[in-house]
Amino acid sequence: MTPGRGKLYIVGIGPGHPDLMTVAAQKAIAESRYIIGNATYLDQIQSLLADQTIITSSMGKEVARASEALELASGKDIVSIISGGDAGIYGMAGIVLEIADKTDMDVEIVVVPGVTAANAAASILGSPITGDFAVISLSDLLTPWEDIERRLSSAAAADFVIALYNPKSRGRNTNFIRAIEIIRKQRQGSVPVGIVKDAFRDGESAVLTTLEDVLDFDDFVDMHAIIIIGNSESKLSGSRIITPRGYHRKYEY
Ligand code: SAH
Repeated sequence: MTPGRGKLYIVGIGPGHPDLMTVAAQKAIAESRYIIGNATYLDQIQSLLADQTIITSSMGKEVARASEALELASGKDIVSIISGGDAGIYGMAGIVLEIADKTDMDVEIVVVPGVTAANAAASILGSPITGDFAVISLSDLLTPWEDIERRLSSAAAADFVIALYNPKSRGRNTNFIRAIEIIRKQRQGSVPVGIVKDAFRDGESAVLTTLEDVLDFDDFVDMHAIIIIGNSESKLSGSRIITPRGYHRKYEY
């Protein structure tokens, strides 16, 4: 670190279990004097907290949290702002960098990547992604619903494997059903679908189904779930989903 300059780590802490946090994330947290995050994420890093000053922020207060982290670091301190999964995927990295871009605070900013929900869930389901995939959030809090619908439809038409984040939350209970109906227009009902709830956290659970039947599990899906929808080549193998990469087109095995 440049002497006299503050440093802000934007840390992705992975899906929940400490084993899935990177060593770089652990080092950033250990090095920091201040740790800022919401209560759920701070709980996940309890075992790494020693004498850092902890600042608990609430959900929905991301802009204030980002500004506060930058302010603290500009006082020449080392600060970590915590994000679940990867900080750059529906996480804190974007808003912190946007605010930093608009101000001229003298802070070194380091984004520490993390295991995102899509690849955590994929590992539980087998190998449902393997190749090209699209990640789409169903939260219309910050993105207009028309844009979400257009992306769902385009990704489905282009045969991407699709990972759906933020399928539901309080007050947004029908977005998941609407999304599935859009994807079904472009994709066969027989493609496998995996739903993983609380991946690598207490109470982890997973369901394997198909696009045809996935809405039977509508009640199971909540804000702690991610849904992975296979492409036209994905198949079920026992309790796993496999999306072939294409080796079968070149090799015999
Ligand atoms: N930055 C996070 C995503 C935040 S958006 C990441 O990279 O994973 C919040 C959404 O992510 C949730 O609604 C859910 O769809 C998904 N998610 C995050 N952690 C999860 C977990 N452990 N298990 C299942 N889904 C998860």
